[in-house]
Amino acid sequence: MVVALQMQKHEFLDAYQTALAQYDRAIRYANLPDDVVEYMRYPRREFTVNFPVRRDDGRMEMFTGYRVHHNTSMGPSKGGLRYSMDVTLDEVRALAMWMTWKCALVNIPYGGAKGGVVVDPKTLSMGELERLTRRYASELVPLISPKMDIPAPDMGTNPQVMAWIMDTYSMTMGYSVPAIVTGKPINIGGSEGRTEATGRGVIMCMVSTLKHHGYHDPAAVKVAVQGFGNVGANAAAYAHDLGYKIVAVSDVEGGIYNPNGLNIPQVLNHYKKYGQLAGYPEADAVTNNELLALPCDVLVPAAMEGQLTQHNAAAVQARFIVEGANGPTTPEADDILNDKGVFVVPDILANSGGVIVSYFEWVQDLQAFFWGKDYVFDQLNRIIMQAYDRTLQTAEDLRIDMRTAAQVTAIQRVASAILTRGFYP
Ligand code: NAD
Repeated sequence: MVVALQMQKHEFLDAYQTALAQYDRAIRYANLPDDVVEYMRYPRREFTVNFPVRRDDGRMEMFTGYRVHHNTSMGPSKGGLRYSMDVTLDEVRALAMWMTWKCALVNIPYGGAKGGVVVDPKTLSMGELERLTRRYASELVPLISPKMDIPAPDMGTNPQVMAWIMDTYSMTMGYSVPAIVTGKPINIGGSEGRTEATGRGVIMCMVSTLKHHGYHDPAAVKVAVQGFGNVGANAAAYAHDLGYKIVAVSDVEGGIYNPNGLNIPQVLNHYKKYGQLAGYPEADAVTNNELLALPCDVLVPAAMEGQLTQHNAAAVQARFIVEGANGPTTPEADDILNDKGVFVVPDILANSGGVIVSYFEWVQDLQAFFWGKDYVFDQLNRIIMQAYDRTLQTAEDLRIDMRTAAQVTAIQRVASAILTRGFYP
């Protein structure tokens, strides 16, 4: 088995190498039998599908999609669907593995999965996006169900995409199955608070970190946020509401910077109106690389993986990094940041608010009984803070960084489920 994995290694791209390197680091502290360690390295199932989509002009075009179930020892697998030209099987494998650890860390009864389609959704009309989504969803039918695997939104997908998946699955079954996806619109069984959940959870972790390190005045804390999508924009908005000074935000085209703080509600209005950050008054333009090195207290990478690397980590000036994105920091960058004394709140903890409220949505759908937003946020705060405190305690007990501590906790939980269930047959 080890040989088989090593033979494949040459074809792995960055995200999966990162996920495996982090795993190898964490298991040194997990004290587990070798066979269980080996078992958890592998994705359980990998699915690749090539399918046709009719374009508006009548042409037929082929697309490729994936879905990977990493580990299902703790329950049905859970994870987002990504529409991006950068999607590869390796990226999906990495993201599925991180979902396993994330769900285990926050102690919700799920395994990890991820999926994606190689497509730039901005190049499709609404009709083309709907046809692509419905065809991909129907190809996924043998792999997904409320008891087996529950997709959710990720980069390039949104509540409307989830609605089409829910409808396609429901039409196939012959009855409505809201619990098949989370992150749906509220009028068809979505949860209050799901849209804001990931960004809000990021900021809950940021606030705890700052308090732990003696920063009690939000107005004196400067925050830079990379990525202005679901996670980045909601994180910036919530932090702004709490009184923190958001000095920079960015999207794929670049960012804007004002050392005295941006008015985030106005930035959001500008972004809605013009579809870009560029041109926002009272701010200087910065590139994404410049944003990562700005003078600030907290850096929130909330765009995509592989942003902080051995090439730019030394330039980071922030004292704290709270990872909104999955896998934004490579292991080499982790070493540089740890040496510099930067405190990193890792992705599987910091961005777990999304899957926690997705779990609430699934529970509400299964019970057909819906909660109010305040209750959702109270429960989110309870669960994410339990995971935060447990991770901090593990980091202090074992004298390790927060990422390794989070992974050790998660890996031990999954291993415990595997050992209790036993190896089949
Ligand atoms: P999104 O598509 O809503 O937004 C992504 C943002 O990143 C956009 O502003 C985009 O312009 C920007 N971006 C894309 N490529 C970039 C690049 N190369 N450099 C700088 N900016 C870039 O996606 P999202 O849902 O906000 O997800 C962002 C990250 O958070 C991803 O890593 C995702 O896996 C992770 N995440 C999302 C959720 C969720 O609930 N949406 C939950 C957990 C983790």
